Amino acid sequence: MLGLMQDRQLLVSGILEHAALNHGEREIVSAMTEGPMHRYNYIALAERSRRLANALSGLGVKPGQCVATLAWNTFRHVECWYAIAGMGAIAHTINPRLFPEQIIYIANHAEDQYIFTDLTFIDQLEAIADQLETVKGFVILTDRDHMPDTSLKNAICYEDLIAEESAAFRWPELDENTACGLCYTSGTTGNPKGVLYSHRSNVLHAMAATGADAMALRSVDNVMPVVPMFHANAWALAYAVPMVGGKLVLPGRHLDGESVYNMLEDEQINFTAAVPTVWLMLLQHMQANDLKLNYLKRVVIGGSAVPRSMIDTFENVYGVEVAHAWGMTEMSPLGTLCNFKAGMENLDKQARLDIKVKQGRVIYPVEIKITDDDGNELQRDGKAFGHLLVRGPTISKAYLKGEGGEILDRDGWFDTGDVATIDPLGFMQITDRSKDVIKSGGEWISSIDLENLAVGCPGVAEAAVIGIAHPKWDERPLLIIVRADGSNVTRDEILAYMDGKIAKWWMPDDIAFVDEIPHTATGKIQKTTLREQFADYKLPTADAAE
Ligand code: AMP
Repeated sequence: MLGLMQDRQLLVSGILEHAALNHGEREIVSAMTEGPMHRYNYIALAERSRRLANALSGLGVKPGQCVATLAWNTFRHVECWYAIAGMGAIAHTINPRLFPEQIIYIANHAEDQYIFTDLTFIDQLEAIADQLETVKGFVILTDRDHMPDTSLKNAICYEDLIAEESAAFRWPELDENTACGLCYTSGTTGNPKGVLYSHRSNVLHAMAATGADAMALRSVDNVMPVVPMFHANAWALAYAVPMVGGKLVLPGRHLDGESVYNMLEDEQINFTAAVPTVWLMLLQHMQANDLKLNYLKRVVIGGSAVPRSMIDTFENVYGVEVAHAWGMTEMSPLGTLCNFKAGMENLDKQARLDIKVKQGRVIYPVEIKITDDDGNELQRDGKAFGHLLVRGPTISKAYLKGEGGEILDRDGWFDTGDVATIDPLGFMQITDRSKDVIKSGGEWISSIDLENLAVGCPGVAEAAVIGIAHPKWDERPLLIIVRADGSNVTRDEILAYMDGKIAKWWMPDDIAFVDEIPHTATGKIQKTTLREQFADYKLPTADAAE
């Protein structure tokens, strides 16, 4: 027998209207590319999103089509999200830090109809516009006064586009499983793959994120998502904060220590979230200028492992509680957060840090388990480590257009590619990644792409790339080279060869020459051995950053 409860669908348009009706007066503050801070509230957000939905219909955008954004966190970007998804189309966030070939690939793969772009990315788009096969036009996220001279075809001013539209728009009662948002992962091999969120997965994920043992968000909170909206849903915050009616502060493009500090103080932020690199810049700025945090109470840090010293500094110097978080694009992205269980608050400082460096406990409705190579589940004893598998309604079951084939096992589990332990209280800790990507400032650099490029350089016999710890960027690539017989190829020649063929920030920080690179039985480069060999290696760029 079925239950007798209402079949109201879980839709992101419902979050928007809930915020407008119940928290209409709460502020949304944005740092703008054009200059001054912009302020309005949830009523205005909903009104303008409805105007934009009408405008999108006028542009001929149909349900199920992708509309892309290349944008920082600002109110206009949030309006795009709600309008595009709310009308039944798909909000495709493109990471502007990808290099041009990847942006071309994913825009064509997603069949993006329009690209909504911040002023900052106009040059980048002009350079690739003629290779974007399905894009009918570009909407520039600005007002008429700031419209640039651009060669982009059909360049439309955002404010002009919505100015004459009606604020009356009835959000369609979509099936909650309708596609809502699209975000490509930068995979280790092959092309990026599209993770296609549904309205249901985004609403469930946002509800999970607000939970008291997750981000514990409330209407009284002033929240600043520093994590960009093009990074896996900004970790739910552009949905979760309107859901609870918190003040939403959007930091725009300047994420350096000083800018972030000023916004934290000026807007009296008590909750924020970003990758470790952002917090490193903030802590350095505060230490150098003898500053303190007057309002910040909690910070969620994830995307890569959070150093113990960072947790220690936040908690014990600045009185800010850290929640270490783990997840991935395919998981919407939140999987675990590290919040204490009963009694742990009273442990001594070192014991508390021992817990806080772990990635934490799973949030409902995510399930996790660890397995050995044969798929047998391993004990939750905090010692056994194995492949970390996940399952749940906020986790991908396939990539867009079936890329990558079948991604779930027989029982519906997804292999994260991470290796972890789980302790008897449920705290998970990542011990390694089975992938070898290099995490630099929260972004991924594919070691395989760099290796493939380097071996193309005359005089290079073999190349391997590993991540070396870096005080500012977390990790930076070290290129390890075996010269071809009789070759004297130099560091500068190899770097000159690579220059221009990859994004600048992908360039290796250093090159080490060796006689041979260790291999596994199946002929793969043995990265674990290389990492041990170069464990104490210091990059020339490390000193400058310290
Ligand atoms: P992405 O899909 O870009 O969000 O990357 C997901 C991957 O980042 C995970 O599979 C992990 O390898 C890594 N990751 C995310 N959060 C953490 C964390 N807190 N500690 C260690 N690795 C992390």
